[in-house]
Order: sequence, then C-alpha cells, then structure tokens
Amino acid sequence: MSGPRLVLTINCGSSSLKFTIINPETGEERLKGQADALGSSSAALSWQHDEKEGTQKLSPGDDYEGVIGALVKRFDGPWSALREQLRAIGHRVVHGGEQFADSTLINDSVVSAIRACCELAPLHNPAALQGIQASLLAFPELPQVAVFDTAFHQSLPDYAYLYALPYSLYRDHQLRRYGMHGSSHRYIGERSAEILKTPTDKINVISAHLGNGASLCAIKNGKSVDTSMGLTPLEGLVMGSRCGDLDPGLLLHLGEALDYSLAELEQLLNRNSGLLGISELSNDCRELEEAMGKGHAGASLALKLFCYRLAKYIAAYTVPLKRVDSLVFTGGIGENSSWVRRETIGWLSQLGYQLDNKRNEDIRFGSEGQISKDGTPDILVIPTREDWVIARDTIRLANRAL
Ligand code: AMP
Repeated sequence: MSGPRLVLTINCGSSSLKFTIINPETGEERLKGQADALGSSSAALSWQHDEKEGTQKLSPGDDYEGVIGALVKRFDGPWSALREQLRAIGHRVVHGGEQFADSTLINDSVVSAIRACCELAPLHNPAALQGIQASLLAFPELPQVAVFDTAFHQSLPDYAYLYALPYSLYRDHQLRRYGMHGSSHRYIGERSAEILKTPTDKINVISAHLGNGASLCAIKNGKSVDTSMGLTPLEGLVMGSRCGDLDPGLLLHLGEALDYSLAELEQLLNRNSGLLGISELSNDCRELEEAMGKGHAGASLALKLFCYRLAKYIAAYTVPLKRVDSLVFTGGIGENSSWVRRETIGWLSQLGYQLDNKRNEDIRFGSEGQISKDGTPDILVIPTREDWVIARDTIRLANRAL
C-alpha cells in the first residue's frame, strides 16, 4: 500500500450525512461531500474531489445505510485509489454524556454507551448511531473511532456545569450542562497556542464559535472551564433559529397561559427563534446583513441582539480566565462577518479590546490572523477545522488498535 495514511470522517445530522477524507498529518482534504435531504424525493449525494464536483441522486428510501452503500460503490470504483490509503474512520457524535472525556475506539460497549446517551440528545445521537452501525458493517476491516462534541467540556468544574436545580436531578438523571462544539473549541485552543507560541497547557482563550449553531468556550491552560451550551444545544448565545438563554418561567407561561404543547415548544425554541424569530426574515447572517443594508429594521435588530448577547458572554468569561491570551472568532459568521465582529467588540472597550478596522475588513473566506490593534489584547480569526480534529484523534487511537 502506497501514499499517505488517510481518514474518512463521517458526520450524521438529522437528515444529512457529511463526509471528508483527510490526511491527518497535514489536514489536507482529499475528498469532501455530503448527502442531503435524506428521506425526501430530492435526496442527493454531492462531492468535491481533485477540484472537480460531482452529484448523484439517492432514492427517497435511502437512509444512512443507503448513503454509506453509495459511498462503498464509489470506493470500489472511481475512488479506489483513496480507498487503498484509508486507515481508519472517525465518527462525530454529539453527546457522550459523562462517560467520554476523550475520543474512543468503537466496540460493542461503546455503541451501547452512545445508545444510552440518546435520551440526552434525542435529535442527534440516534443519527450518529445509525451511521456508525452502517459503517461498521460496510468497513469491518478498518478501526472506527467516536469523537464526541461533549468530551472537551468534561473538564468543567461542578460549579460551572450544574444547574441550580435539586441535586437529585443531576444524581439520578445526569441533568447538567455538557456543552457542544468541543472539537471546534479544542482546535481553536490548540491553534491559538501555536500562533501565540505558547504551550497548549498554558494558553487561556475565549473561543467564539459562531455558525448556525453558536457557542462560547472559556479555555484555561488548554482545558475547557466554561461553555455556553448546556444539556442541549439550546442554551447560551442567540443562534440562527435557536433562542439561546431564556427565563425558564417563560416556558411555564407559554404552557399555562398560551397552551403550547411540548412539540410546539420544541419547534418554537429550536426552529422559529434566534435570528429568524427576531428578524421575521431569515436565520442566515449574510442575508440579514444584506437586508440591514437596505434598511430592514427586523434584520438590524436581530443582528444587534446577537452581538449584544455575545459581548455579555465574552465579558462573563473573563471571570474564570482572569488573564485572556486571545479572543477568537470562528464558524461561518465568526470567520466571515466583519460587521458582527466590529459590533461585538464595540461593547468591550472596557476590557481594552480595540479592533484594527482594516485588518477586520480584510480577513475572510478562510483566512487566519489578528484583527486587534497592535499593543491591545489579542483578537484572532481562525477558521475552525473540526474534521481535522476528528481525523487526528481517529488515527491516534487507530494506531493503538493496529
Ligand atoms: P456555519 O454553520 O458555521 O456553516 O455558518 C453559517 C452562518 O455563517 C450563516 O448564518 C451564514 O450566513 C454565515 N456566513 C457565511 N458567510 C458569511 C459572510 N460572508 N458574511 C456574513 N455571514 C456569513
């Protein structure tokens, strides 16, 4: 077998499956693709390989197993050269509960443990499990690894992860804050350490992952000590269509006075709120910025609310960190929206933060760099690489299995 060792990463969402083939040493993406709209008549597989794009229709009956079957056929045919270099498969799993503080090689007991976490993440873990099971059948000869979004946050102290509810709810039902986006925040911590030439176990970072889902993480000496998502990805920042923090009494009011059912609450909080709910226009930051430019009041209010909430959280995370080596923006919005960065930093001058406007405007579309004025606290933009984190963990653990 020749060529570099490659890793296939698989990320199963509720109606999609994203995959990449990565060189874990260099981070080079050799293949990237996704299956979208699974279960519908427009279900399709699309990919980019060797700077060429391709698509293939899937049948509406194709579930994750069907998609992985379609991938296997391509590995037997046009992608056979890549297949020969594949050494392991890494699966993104959203929830690992308290059992997983690190990624792990998948075996029967790990599959059972992931199944046990389905109760904590009913929208996410079942999809990951189906993807894992289909891929174990399709690639029985390759070591497979689960990489958990929650694992990086297992270092939170109890006073940060507990809700002020009766302790028995934690003891008997594991109800606590777990946090998400762990692979992204971990990458941001490690990459900041490289950029600032500081050992990873000495770096203090506030990492703002701002995409359709958004979360903040306080990283102290390389470890997560607080994060804004909770038991579920609903808590914390304003997101595309999720509300973030709320008065829990409001939920009681919606149920009692306005007769909302649980299903209606789920829809309201996860899908109809956030930027979409306030703007009454879109969950998409880029679209909202364009609309704001044309004078749309709802778009402007939604974006302002987003940045104000974010700025308050950033200020709060100076509490556990005391010394902040860098504030980092990442995710689709964090990497690309100079407006969101400027508006957010505008609230934080009391902490010494000052943007270099030219640097802030110049950085976008996958570039990395400092956007603060020289001599003021460091603000960086770093494109996140969750897939690379998954690939690195996967090869590290697969090497142990071989
Ligand atoms: P993600 O979930 O990380 O893919 O991020 C998606 C979000 O990034 C959406 O709200 C997009 O509108 C936003 N986004 C991507 N590119 C830009 C851009 N150039 N300006 C503003 N927002 C952007």
